[in-house]
Amino acid sequence: MNLSFDDIFKVGIGPSSSHTVGPMKAAFIFLKEIRKKRKLKKIKTVKCDLYGSLALTGKGHGTDKAVLLGLSGYKPSSIASNEIDTILKNIKDKKKIDCKSFKIEFDFNQKSDIKFHRRVSLPFHPNAMAIAAFDKDNNEIYRQTYYSVGGGFIINEDQIDHEATDLLKPKKLKYRFSSAKELLDLCKKNKITISQLMFKNECSLYKKDIAYQNILSIWNVMDECVLNGLHSEGILPGGLKVKRRAPSIFKNLTKNMEKNLSDNLSVLDWVNLYALAVNEENAAGGKVVTAPTNGAAGIIPAVLKYYLNFYPRASEQGIVDFLLTAAAIAILYKENASISGAEVGCQGEVGVACSMAAGALTAVMGGSLSQVTNAAEIAMEHNLGLTCDPIGGLVQIPCIERNAMGAIKAINATRIALQGDGSHFVSLDKVIKTMKQTGKDMKKQYKETSRGGLAVNLPEC
Ligand code: SF4
Repeated sequence: MNLSFDDIFKVGIGPSSSHTVGPMKAAFIFLKEIRKKRKLKKIKTVKCDLYGSLALTGKGHGTDKAVLLGLSGYKPSSIASNEIDTILKNIKDKKKIDCKSFKIEFDFNQKSDIKFHRRVSLPFHPNAMAIAAFDKDNNEIYRQTYYSVGGGFIINEDQIDHEATDLLKPKKLKYRFSSAKELLDLCKKNKITISQLMFKNECSLYKKDIAYQNILSIWNVMDECVLNGLHSEGILPGGLKVKRRAPSIFKNLTKNMEKNLSDNLSVLDWVNLYALAVNEENAAGGKVVTAPTNGAAGIIPAVLKYYLNFYPRASEQGIVDFLLTAAAIAILYKENASISGAEVGCQGEVGVACSMAAGALTAVMGGSLSQVTNAAEIAMEHNLGLTCDPIGGLVQIPCIERNAMGAIKAINATRIALQGDGSHFVSLDKVIKTMKQTGKDMKKQYKETSRGGLAVNLPEC
């Protein structure tokens, strides 16, 4: 295990971690690799080929735009959402990419230099893209194939046979674990909780106060995203004409606060609202935190907001513990299964987020180690087989509501686990293995291709 907190929770732009954040990072890394070879100044033009799921749902997920932004020298974590339209318009009008951070400018015709190979999939992973740069005589300067393997993680062709992830150097982490059993054994042996173990790992990378602030800053972006979603009205982009619902629900809930709070289940309305707000922001291309993906980005913030607003003993330390525990659970899925909808369907996105949130909420509500893994297991057990079939290739239907359902399911999994003594029939490791196997058995149509399920049974507009 070479993953830490910031591999799981990354600030990026919507609507998809694998189809937007990953390709944008790949395009940026491509330029960095050419810079290392000292050949940047030779670039006259760049061409990009998208394969498999990136080609099939890339238009709806904004993959082409993400590639252009990456080639313009922007990273998902640092681009301001309000800059995007101007950058893309300039490229379209001038047929050139002005990449200021790399001090280069090169030709790029959006119509012909980016190709969607909808019938071709590369063997290693369904989310594949190749980028090539050419000089003025059309000689190839550099070519690389990248795979966007979920949650914004990128590997290139040369890394397939290695353990390298996300083009990162191995990290010196204090504790290494590759299964839930190993994680629990480490916690028991050292008499620490999962969040304490994860925090010690963070302190292997950063000073203690910086590690703490990093985690809180991720929460701040999540919280800001909820807030933006609550106040942004209008129609989501992409052609489905989906109306943003969070602002009107928010108005209704706050207007009728007393009446609503007399309804014992009104808490569900608030949890639903938080999740809808984040995923509407994501669908609109706003700033979100991958948790563990963009499509499933609403579940963790919604359950954390539930903890903060409805759990009487909530605290700032609780936010940190929640996120660290959630990250540990995500690492188990990333290491042993997948967090890519294109690889294992939505069980790898919404299912994993639900499992993360259930385990994390259980931890901050005082659950034991075995209750935490029990909750994470329950949450995944009832997401097994969940397919990915976004209508029109857009991360809107069923994705937005699915986050609300995932958040509620996570809270329920916590409540079931906290009513028990932690003993459970199916272990977290077993359910992770089952999720992977179920994903393998799932037909291609249900893995982010928009060729099955809701995507074919409803008209696009
Ligand atoms: S259906 Fe699930 S996996 Fe597919 S795009 Fe939507 S959120 Fe992601």
